[in-house]
Amino acid sequence: MKKIIITIDGYSSCGKSTLAKQVAKELNYVFVDSGAMYRAIAYYFIKNNLNWENPADVASALSNISLEFEYNHEKGTSDILMNGENVESHIREMYVNDKVSEVAAIKEIREFTVAEQQKGTINKGIVMDGRDIGTVVFPNAELKIFLTADPEERVERRYNQLLSFGKEAVRDEIRKNLEKRDYIDTHREVSPLRKADDAVILDNTDLTTQEQLEIVLGWANEKINS
Ligand code: C5P
Repeated sequence: MKKIIITIDGYSSCGKSTLAKQVAKELNYVFVDSGAMYRAIAYYFIKNNLNWENPADVASALSNISLEFEYNHEKGTSDILMNGENVESHIREMYVNDKVSEVAAIKEIREFTVAEQQKGTINKGIVMDGRDIGTVVFPNAELKIFLTADPEERVERRYNQLLSFGKEAVRDEIRKNLEKRDYIDTHREVSPLRKADDAVILDNTDLTTQEQLEIVLGWANEKINS
């Protein structure tokens, strides 16, 4: 059966990864969380006291970072490894949330990450979520989705997600962080977040995860069978 590439882009906390994971599982495709790569790089800068606005620090960091994903059987999804260390638990912390969009706006960092994302995709069968996947990473993807949701609903979802991870959650802080990241992501010079011209918009504010999954599987199967 034909295999395709599915891209899911959109604002922070719209549920892109949740949807991408479910679609990948149903189709037996590989799921790639591109945000985890930017988060791991941001974590590296913070941990090593490096400045992403200093080109020498950026060059040194990028020559020392290697990223890979490792399947976690317990969770049924992949964890990100940075230089062999599982950094999943660090990269979702508020101090990383706070800086990741600034780090992701640096041209050299995006070039490095995009090259990593494009590796090993010859066989297709990929679902990747992020901000520039349909516009820059896979401009020829067969199915491009731009996911949106009401901002307050997104705050609520992130709040519940943090609680479910056993982390502290304050709605006001979450709201400010989402607004800041969306602003930087849509206003940066290099590959800003925008809907690809050929992407379909899916507003999931009033949809259950099952309903949105069925819609997307319908679209995917149309492309697979065309
Ligand atoms: O998707 P997630 O919220 O984990 O992404 C974290 C941050 O990484 C985003 O706020 C954005 O700044 C950056 N990002 C990006 N391009 C992507 C994926 C994420 O700039 N493809």
